Amino acid sequence: MLIVDSDVLLVERQLRAGQLGCPLCSSALTPWGHARPREIRGDLGARLFLRPRRTRCSGCKVTHVLLAEALWPRRADVAAVIGAGLEIAALGMGHRRVAAALGLADGTVRGWLRTFAGRAEDVRRHFTVALVALADDPVMPEAAASTLADAVSAVVAAHRAAATKWPHMLTVSRWEFAGRAIGGRLLTSLSSAI
Ligand SMILES: [Zn+2]
Repeated sequence: MLIVDSDVLLVERQLRAGQLGCPLCSSALTPWGHARPREIRGDLGARLFLRPRRTRCSGCKVTHVLLAEALWPRRADVAAVIGAGLEIAALGMGHRRVAAALGLADGTVRGWLRTFAGRAEDVRRHFTVALVALADDPVMPEAAASTLADAVSAVVAAHRAAATKWPHMLTVSRWEFAGRAIGGRLLTSLSSAI
């Protein structure tokens, strides 16, 4: 799996021009059909239908699915919605209040929070390193009330540093930025998951 821009036409052009590199060996990826269609919940209950592009490496011959940065592997909601839930949870709210705030089922949000809690230390470390690399004078976020909140703070700080360095990053939501920066592994550690 490779996380790519959310602009489908741009990605198709990049793919056909051989500009997308294999995550394993860096050779050019080539078009290789599509993955199964998926239905995704967008902001405010919007329903989106997607057919992720499947590709094959011209070097190692491994196939990779291209996943838009607006999505995370194995999740039915867009990154911005899941990220909003993580930010609300970081304020100390439980999964039921987060679910109510987003208008989603308790079980969906409980799944995100459980998984993210298990990934939080890795996520915090990854984005703390990114913050140090991106900022000229990095200011570390203060320790928060939970590892989940620390991880959210690290993502927010790294996105802010990226947007200071590259203003076009302001047009990318911090959770899309985060998904792309960590290869979609915010809510899964499986590199091939989709
Ligand atoms: Zn390859």
